Amino acid sequence: MANQFDPKGKPFSKRLKAFLDDAKSTYNITVGQDSGRTIAWQQKYHVAHMFLYNSYKSTKPSKVATGKRTIAWSHFSDPKVIWATVKFGDFLKTAKNQSPIKEGQKWKSGFEPDQKATEKHVKSLQTKAGIGNAGKAMVSSGLKPCGQPCKCGAGRSKHLDGVAADLNSSHLVTLTSKLTAAKAGTLDAYLALYGLHRPLLNHPTSPEKWHIEAKP
Ligand SMILES: [Zn+2]
Ligand SMILES: [Zn+2]
Repeated sequence: MANQFDPKGKPFSKRLKAFLDDAKSTYNITVGQDSGRTIAWQQKYHVAHMFLYNSYKSTKPSKVATGKRTIAWSHFSDPKVIWATVKFGDFLKTAKNQSPIKEGQKWKSGFEPDQKATEKHVKSLQTKAGIGNAGKAMVSSGLKPCGQPCKCGAGRSKHLDGVAADLNSSHLVTLTSKLTAAKAGTLDAYLALYGLHRPLLNHPTSPEKWHIEAKP
């Protein structure tokens, strides 16, 4: 391939575009990008992750139960807490699986959130959204800093800062086989030509083979 691109000093977006353009012109494949990452999306699935799992090693929500690392139920279900960006109606469920109803600073009688029903619902949020590791993979915050009801110290998603992209997994598989057929080396060697890499490829708990960033 006639690779004339020099990634040195070029921002992530330029590197990614050059890579995608070359994949198209050299291997006739349009590699799709996951574009569903907005601040609201990111914060919703981050809060859900911190409520159920928190697989971050060194960061915790501001209110945890004794000995736990996830958002305390007493805080998650506290009607006085004003949630930032995320809506409690997207997470909390009553025992009858309805949305809880607030009356002033209290829950309406018969419409209080129920822990079991809420946990079940939030679990399904993560799997339906296609979060990795059967819904348990880490999700970065959408806010800087993270807000209620989590308020942890986790960094904001690199996706939102324009320094990371998720590429379509099956397109990458196709591209890999085309590289192999052309004896053109590995996908990672190809990415490296454009100053790109996959830093989460071998992550111990949340591997993401589709996650691309600029090489430092
Ligand atoms: Zn957080
Ligand atoms: Zn990613």
